[in-house]
Amino acid sequence: EHAENPDRSVAFYRLDMNEGMQQRMLIESGLRHALGNGELILHYQPKFEIGSSRLVGAEALVRWRHPVRGMVPPIEFIPLAESTGLIVQVGEWVLEQACAQAAIWQRAGLPPFRLAVNVSAREFTPSLPGRVAETLRRYRLDPHWLELEITESTLMHDIEHVIAIMDRISALGVALSLDDFGTGYSSLSYLKRFPIDTLKIDRSFTTGIPLDPSDCAIASTIIGMGRKLGHRVIAEGVETVEQLEFLRQAGCDEVQGYLYGKPLPAYEFEKSLRENWLLMGMGEAASSAVR
Ligand code: C2E
Ligand code: MG
Ligand code: MG
Ligand code: MG
Repeated sequence: EHAENPDRSVAFYRLDMNEGMQQRMLIESGLRHALGNGELILHYQPKFEIGSSRLVGAEALVRWRHPVRGMVPPIEFIPLAESTGLIVQVGEWVLEQACAQAAIWQRAGLPPFRLAVNVSAREFTPSLPGRVAETLRRYRLDPHWLELEITESTLMHDIEHVIAIMDRISALGVALSLDDFGTGYSSLSYLKRFPIDTLKIDRSFTTGIPLDPSDCAIASTIIGMGRKLGHRVIAEGVETVEQLEFLRQAGCDEVQGYLYGKPLPAYEFEKSLRENWLLMGMGEAASSAVR
């Protein structure tokens, strides 16, 4: 039918595109509104050191508590915010909120752990280190409480420029980790020059452990290389005891995943921290998570 009537199919295609654009504009204006209206919220997911079984960090993950749509996951608005530039304002809010929360936990006398904030490529500008320093100062937050997670795509821009920004952040005492490692295209020759503390093995590799030989080989190789370069290595998306055991034997330093804890609102995170995670070993953490 379309072949006989090309005009109709063109019109249909245009209508479809407009709908896509309209949808994007709706999300964008909604997100702008959400920022000013307190609809964004951070959830926190614990990170454990394998050797000591201790909680060593947490990742702050943003959600949009939409009045009609409910809890909207970041995959539905972060990529759009990245393409429109609104990610800069979202990122400012996330850093502010994470530092405020870390300062509360610091003041409550909790044993220190690093609170990691995801930073998109577009936020990685020369003004970032100053903003981080200023936020730490304002909350009187010890810089060792903060970590920034950046993805390999950030490193594909102007490398010298990016390294200079990383050096300034690192000089503040704030840790840097390379997120979703193995999924990007960053060259190994640059890897040795980045002032990073931690490599994060992407969940897509963790998922295949222990049955997929390629995923096992990739994970082991990242762990070996990362550690030889003097970095810590963490695996994200750890869901099973078998994955934990493989990672332990491969020499991985830390794990994060549903096996130990899903991302939780601050209050529930703190409750689990006080009632379980501060007191118990990894086996117990795993079994309590499964329960
Ligand atoms: P990411 O930084 O790689 O975060 C890890 C994602 O894996 C999170 O998804 C987390 O909930 C999920 N995850 C952790 N453990 C498991 C597991 O055992 N199984 C499964 N199936 N998933 C697990 P989430 O919260 O949906 O975030 C998705 C992505 O959105 C993040 O990936 C990050 O790239 C982005 N994102 C989230 N919050 C922010 C933010 O504040 N700023 C920026 N720029 N990006 C963010
Ligand atoms: Mg991350
Ligand atoms: Mg990640
Ligand atoms: Mg990932």
